[in-house]
Amino acid sequence: MTDVFGDLVGQDEAVATLRRTAASAAALLRAAAPVAARAGAPAGAGDPEGYDDLDALAEELDDPGAAVGAGAVVPDAADPGAGMTHAWIFTGPPGSGRSVAARAFAAALQCVHGTGCGRCPGCHTTLAGTHADVRLVVPEGLSIGVGEMRALVLRAASSPSGGRWQVVIIEDADRLTEAAGNALLKAVEEPPPRTVFLLCAPSTHPDDVSVTIRSRCRVVPLRQPPAGAVAEVLVRRDGIAPDVAEWAAAAAQGHVGRARRLARDPEARQRRDAVLAVPRRLTGVGAAFDAASALIEAAEAEAAASVAEADEAERAALQTALGAGGTGRGAAGAMRGAAGQLKDLEKRQKSRATRAQRDALDRALVDLAGFYRDALTMALRAPVAPVHTDTATLAGAGAQKWAAEGALRRLEAVLECRSAIEANVKPRIAVEAMMLSLWRG
Ligand SMILES: [Zn+2]
Repeated sequence: MTDVFGDLVGQDEAVATLRRTAASAAALLRAAAPVAARAGAPAGAGDPEGYDDLDALAEELDDPGAAVGAGAVVPDAADPGAGMTHAWIFTGPPGSGRSVAARAFAAALQCVHGTGCGRCPGCHTTLAGTHADVRLVVPEGLSIGVGEMRALVLRAASSPSGGRWQVVIIEDADRLTEAAGNALLKAVEEPPPRTVFLLCAPSTHPDDVSVTIRSRCRVVPLRQPPAGAVAEVLVRRDGIAPDVAEWAAAAAQGHVGRARRLARDPEARQRRDAVLAVPRRLTGVGAAFDAASALIEAAEAEAAASVAEADEAERAALQTALGAGGTGRGAAGAMRGAAGQLKDLEKRQKSRATRAQRDALDRALVDLAGFYRDALTMALRAPVAPVHTDTATLAGAGAQKWAAEGALRRLEAVLECRSAIEANVKPRIAVEAMMLSLWRG
C-alpha cells in the first residue's frame, strides 16, 4: 500500500513540494500545541482563539520559510517547497490529476503523522470524502454560484473539529461565477487561521482564475503524465493487462481517468472508434452534416450514461428523506415543500447534464485532434509515437493525401471548434462548421 500521493501519476516534482509542505504544516501544528495548552485549551478542542495565526506560529518556529502571511505569496527562496500557506492552485491539463493532487494534499494535512501515510483515520476519511474538516466543492452545473460559495466560506471559517486544518477543495475553480469568485477572494484575502483553500483549474490564465485570486495563491503546476507512467499505474493499481494498459494510456493522451475507462469499458471504446471513423466518413457535404450529427449524438449518449446513475440515486435519496408515501399528520404540508425541493433537484440535474454533454463532446474533439496530429507528425516524418496506434495506418494515408499543410489546417479546424464551443457557440453549429472544414481541407 502506497501513501496518499501514490495515485499521482508522473508528478514527482509536485509531490515533492506537497510532501515538504505537509511536513512543514505538521511542524506548525506541533509548535501550536504548547501555545494552546498554555491558553488552557488542549489541542484539538476546536477553540480558534486558542491558536495563533500562521504568521505568529511561524515566528514561534523561528523559521521565516515555514509560513506565508495572509495575502502575501513569498515562498522561502532557499526552499520554495517548505512554506505552508492558506491558498493553493493546482493547475494542469484535464486528467493530469488536479483534484487527485488536491485530495492527497488535504489528506496529508489531516494525517495524524503529518505525512499522508495513507493508513491513519485522517488520511482514510479525507480520501473517502467523510472527514469533518474537509469540504469538497464539485460544481454540478456549468458554474459555481455565489450562494454556494458564501455558505462554504462561512463554514470554512469555523475552527477544525479535528484540531488540524479546515480544508476546502474547489474543483474546477475556473467555473466560479464572478460573484462567487469575489466571495472566495474575501476569504482568501483574510483567511481564518486554520483554513486552507485548495483550488483546481486548467491554468492560471485570467480566463480560468482571476488575477487577484491568483496573486493570493501558491501554484502547483501538474504536467500531462507520460503514457508510460499512466500505463504503469493501470497495471499496478487496476490490474489491467500490460498490452491493454499501454494502448489505453497512449489513446487517452495522458488523461488517467479516461485511460482507465478505455481499458475497462467496451462502450467507451466503441464511442472512441466512432469518433475516429469521422475522417474516413467525410466524402461530401451531406456526409459532413451526418458526421456532425453522429458526433453530437454520441456525446449526448455518453453524457446521459454518465449522469443517469447519479440522477436516479439522488431522486431516490430525496424521496426517502422527504418520506414519500407518508400518510401521517403533516404529510400534506411536507409534500408541498417536497415539490419545491424536487424542482430544485431537477434544475441541478439538468445543468449537470448540460455540462456532461459539453465534457463528452470535448473529449471526442480531443480524440479527433489526436488523429490529425498523427497525420501531421507523419507528414513531417517527426520521430514521435502516434496518439492513436489503431488508426495509424489511416493517419498515414491522410499524411500522404493532405501533406503537412493540409493536416495542420484540419488540426486547426478541430481546435477552433473547441474554442468556439467554449465561447458559447451552439455545439451543433460549431461541429458542422468543423466537419465542413475537415472535408474541404
Ligand atoms: Zn495518515
